[in-house]
Amino acid sequence: MLRKIGMLTSGGDSPGMNAAIRAITRTALANGIEVVGIRDGYKGLVEGWYVPFERSSVSETIASGGTILGSARLPEFKNEDVLMKGVNRLKEYGIDALVVIGGDGTYRGADALTKHGVNCIALPGTIDNDIEGTDYTIGFDTALNTVVECVDKLRDTSNSHHRCSVVEVMGNHCGDLAIYSGISCGAEILITPETGYDEEAVLEKLRYLENQGKKHAIVIVSEKVCDVKALADKVSVATGFAGRATILGHIQRGGSPSPSDRVLASRMGAKAVELLVAGVGGHCVAIRNNEIISMPIEECVSMPRSNRKAFYRLFDRLV
Ligand code: ATP
Repeated sequence: MLRKIGMLTSGGDSPGMNAAIRAITRTALANGIEVVGIRDGYKGLVEGWYVPFERSSVSETIASGGTILGSARLPEFKNEDVLMKGVNRLKEYGIDALVVIGGDGTYRGADALTKHGVNCIALPGTIDNDIEGTDYTIGFDTALNTVVECVDKLRDTSNSHHRCSVVEVMGNHCGDLAIYSGISCGAEILITPETGYDEEAVLEKLRYLENQGKKHAIVIVSEKVCDVKALADKVSVATGFAGRATILGHIQRGGSPSPSDRVLASRMGAKAVELLVAGVGGHCVAIRNNEIISMPIEECVSMPRSNRKAFYRLFDRLV
């Protein structure tokens, strides 16, 4: 019998987490289940930073970015003694099950808790879209909108000054923000974990575009693949374009969630509670072909990265 559930956000925050918290709270309350918000991820879980949630606790939150629960990282949660402290703390507060929202590290924590007797459901909350098994993660669409808005503005100014804008976007070893924004903004060159980085090939392509009469160029680069400042300097030296680097940084994590993210988070939050009510634990929620599904966390974290070749072919065809 499920009487009380906890919920937390962990790892990097993403827009739409609040919409998920709202959906979890209201779906649980509608099922006669008490809800407890746990502050600051697994750290708060272990420390006992628990706040009872009512229907009104999530009023006026659907449009706000970030997470009203706060987030934190607690690397020690991998250790058995710290994990058990968390399990015992949950028991002490009468919490039977948990919904966590975060990235793959958060997923592993939820799997470990389930194996120690606390049923957990994990929701994909990250702007990077780097969780396998789901077409989209909560926050990706909003971050993509932010990137596109920024790159469109850079294009206006680089057009007027014969510039090449080298723009670094987030992604945490996943090229999705780069490829989706590259297609959306009509970028000229993409550098992602999938494409790899060949400096000479990039410069050669820019010289070719210049000879074709291009007045400006946009190069979109996934973080952690190359140094965008060094590349922009090289562009100024080795091509006719003036290279300018822009690192979009944490601006990509902020802002009001897009309607798509609000709907996705609401559907996933409701599904999480339905799964717990059905006695399921150790699963993560995903969207595939517009259907909300779930699968074992173990299966999800060991899935190979899905192929994005069709996106890259499309990008190349449109330059
Ligand atoms: P992001 O994608 O934004 O980095 P994330 O959820 O992957 O999000 P992590 O810092 O990797 O972020 O993980 C969040 C927290 O999950 C960690 O601080 C830790 O408390 C817990 N965690 C990570 N890996 C494990 C694990 N193997 N076992 C138990 N807990 C874990």
